[in-house]
Amino acid sequence: MLKGKSAVVTGSTSGIGLGIARSLAAQGANVMINGFGDPADLERLRASMEKEFKVDVRFNAGDLSQADACSTLIAETEAAFGRVDILVNNVGIQHVAATQDFPVAKWDAILAINLSSYFHTIRAALPGMQARGWGRIINTASVHGLVGSIHKAAYVAAKHGVVGLTKVVALENAEANITCNAICPGWVKTPLVQPQIEARAALVGGSLLEGERSLVGEKQPSKRFSTPEDIGALAAFLCSEAAHNITGTTLPVDGGWTAQ
Ligand code: NAD
Repeated sequence: MLKGKSAVVTGSTSGIGLGIARSLAAQGANVMINGFGDPADLERLRASMEKEFKVDVRFNAGDLSQADACSTLIAETEAAFGRVDILVNNVGIQHVAATQDFPVAKWDAILAINLSSYFHTIRAALPGMQARGWGRIINTASVHGLVGSIHKAAYVAAKHGVVGLTKVVALENAEANITCNAICPGWVKTPLVQPQIEARAALVGGSLLEGERSLVGEKQPSKRFSTPEDIGALAAFLCSEAAHNITGTTLPVDGGWTAQ
């Protein structure tokens, strides 16, 4: 379905981003992965994806809290594959604290990584997409782009910002065959939520499993985590021709969280 297309997925060495990168590669796209990790492990990951999906997989280690690293990521992908057809902005970090105690440095980092990097990559990738008359931009927002939760001021502000950015980019490119959408997951079991599971387990005085149940059950009516593969499958659909008229929207994958 995506043979000959070229994709960049930010923050894709782990979790949801890796699920999306694998899903796009499984559809035949060449993929640039990005993120942090042990260089030997990442080389094994890159090579194993190439072997499994028979596509070209490259790796970029840029720290996307820096604007220059975002434009370099797009330029490197264009140099490697000749084009960027699909841009998935997924990189994100979390910090949990009451607003009055929220460290300013954490606020700045979350805004830079979870919101500004999305602007910088989109800004760099759009001219090529516009020249070719085809593009798919997918932003991993969150249910926290649609509703708030206590102790997540920076994360919720950044994710609401991602939803706004998504709408503007979609409108500006509506006639150009470039779609821009935000996927809004509820709880997905990844390293990002592990500290929250551990904190909840300690709070309820139970095992990690009890911590998971308490955390997910509190907000997500299905009481089930989503998987990175679930999100990857939705991203692949958004890249298909059938999704050409889905743009500027938010797609919750949240077990009913935002239906309440
Ligand atoms: P994760 O921690 O498993 O993955 C984060 C990825 O980003 C990793 O590859 C990491 O190396 C990379 N990364 C972190 N900081 C970076 C930086 N400065 N520059 C470049 N790469 C960097 O997290 P995840 O749970 O897979 O989250 C991915 C996205 O999904 C985030 O935007 C997150 O907000 C969003 N999300 C997650 C959940 C969830 O429940 N896990 C729910 C909703 C939304």
